[in-house]
Amino acid sequence: VELVDILSENFKSLYEAEVLPLVQKLMDYKKFECLSAEMKKEIKDVIISINKFPKAPWDEGVCKVCGVDKDDDSVLLCDTCDAEYHTYCLNPPLIRIPDGNWYCASCVIAKRMAQDALESYKLVRRRKGKKYQGELTRASMETTAHLAGVMEVKDYWEFSAEERILLLKLLCDELLSSSLVHQHLEQCAEAIIEMQQKLRSLSSEWKNTKMREEFLTAKLAKVEPSILKEMGDPQNSSSFPDHIGCNQQPQEGVGDRVTHDDDTSSAG
Ligand SMILES: [Zn+2]
Ligand SMILES: [Zn+2]
Repeated sequence: VELVDILSENFKSLYEAEVLPLVQKLMDYKKFECLSAEMKKEIKDVIISINKFPKAPWDEGVCKVCGVDKDDDSVLLCDTCDAEYHTYCLNPPLIRIPDGNWYCASCVIAKRMAQDALESYKLVRRRKGKKYQGELTRASMETTAHLAGVMEVKDYWEFSAEERILLLKLLCDELLSSSLVHQHLEQCAEAIIEMQQKLRSLSSEWKNTKMREEFLTAKLAKVEPSILKEMGDPQNSSSFPDHIGCNQQPQEGVGDRVTHDDDTSSAG
């Protein structure tokens, strides 16, 4: 929790120091009808830096700790989830790639949790089994014997309500402690591990898609105004207030705007 607090504080201060001024600057530029060469170069640099978007730790093909795709010789693959890790990014770091299978921390934890659940289930099952045996030998013996006697002389539809309930309870208990149900529960534990892995990979895929969506939306927002201007019919574009905000050669407003549009679209 402390680490998350620190990271989110860092993110916030970086956001306030870097992103907000940049957004404000671009908003100011938007008000101008034409931009100086310096301003155009600045915008171009921003667009280029956005295109060089670095990979995030949850992207495919990068180390899950540092998020950098380098030093392939030191990259270790988890034998369960295929996630990549640098040997030196692990805690504690490994000196070399281990010979046998290797599992990442989240896979080890998931496996241990599933095993613990199975063990505690078995323990409870055993205790209940003993208790059930004890009860059966003492108090329930008579009723079971009675039921056996009833079953010899009567068909099921002739049983009293209590006799039917008793028979169904016995059958249910037998079924619950059968190897079939036990096997099924073990399979469930395995399926849980599988689904956890699937969930992890899907959530990383989702994060990835989300990042790309945000990136593309930002890019689209930059490109769209210039395309709309180009596609707009001449009558509409001639009604633009060319004189507002143009600090360079205001008497040649129309020609100036056209060249500015061409530059923006080629940059995007
Ligand atoms: Zn790394
Ligand atoms: Zn793993």
